[in-house]
Amino acid sequence: MLKKAVNECRLTLTIHSKSPLLIKEGRYEQPESKGKMPDSFFVCRNTPSEIKTAVEKDDYSKIRFYLPGSSLRGVIRSHAEKIARTLIPEEPICCIPHNGTACKGGYKNSCVICKLFGSKEAGGRIHIYDSETQRKGKVIERYGNAIDRFTGGVSRGLLFKNKLLKEYIFTSQIIIRNFEIWQLGLLAYVLRDFNVFSGNDKPGLITVGFGKNRGFGRVKGSIGDVWITYFDRDLGRDCYELMGMGEIEYKSSKLYGFVTGDPLSGGLLVEAIIDAEAPYRKQCKVKDNLEFFKACADVWNKVVNDRKFSSVSK
Ligand SMILES: [Zn+2]
Repeated sequence: MLKKAVNECRLTLTIHSKSPLLIKEGRYEQPESKGKMPDSFFVCRNTPSEIKTAVEKDDYSKIRFYLPGSSLRGVIRSHAEKIARTLIPEEPICCIPHNGTACKGGYKNSCVICKLFGSKEAGGRIHIYDSETQRKGKVIERYGNAIDRFTGGVSRGLLFKNKLLKEYIFTSQIIIRNFEIWQLGLLAYVLRDFNVFSGNDKPGLITVGFGKNRGFGRVKGSIGDVWITYFDRDLGRDCYELMGMGEIEYKSSKLYGFVTGDPLSGGLLVEAIIDAEAPYRKQCKVKDNLEFFKACADVWNKVVNDRKFSSVSK
């Protein structure tokens, strides 16, 4: 994949928790003397002793909870896989890492999912950062039954005490560097399933964290301003159509396997803002998020229907 920066899409995804949310803090260990200490705690930036003090005092005002970027990335990737896998079931366009079809080699030879999220051998295009707390909600306690690993039934007398978050809002930044337009189209479907474009307050289809079967982790997403940046040496230029790698770097499309097409016109982007300190960096705000992602989704659909992606076989 090209080393130089060509384009970039940047957006913030805000996650509203609509049911109790739990992503377990890996560093948390329940003390020997259990007392009122829970079995698990939500992931945070505090030290184990600060967590202990907070639980003992039942005061979480100093705890800085966050959603790890890796957790959100896992959720977004597996949802994108689900979308890609159901499109043409007889000619799968995404690999299944554990059944021998895992992508090997660089960007060109990767499936649609590995092109965006990366594989063992190639880095991905998408970067999903940790989501910090934007609005605090409540810390609640829920008991769960321990499951007998042998019978699959409930172990009698064993209860887990979990600390979960309720009505919290987190904000994460997502950046896709050197994108192709179809990748934004695939992402558009994931954002749709977070209920980003629904206009109502209902949770989407996507759940985050622990306890999906118990109704936990239901979230609704929303996005703020979306920015497209072009790194362009043509200093006189400040008006851009939407262009991916296949439209800008079409000469390298054979080498890297970019899908080529026409730039998306129709006034999706506003005039670029040019920073005097970095004049090659042209930042264009997306005019209307819904129109923009619909247009990208159309490109994704067309590319899939035209069989531009080769099917993944063993
Ligand atoms: Zn793959």
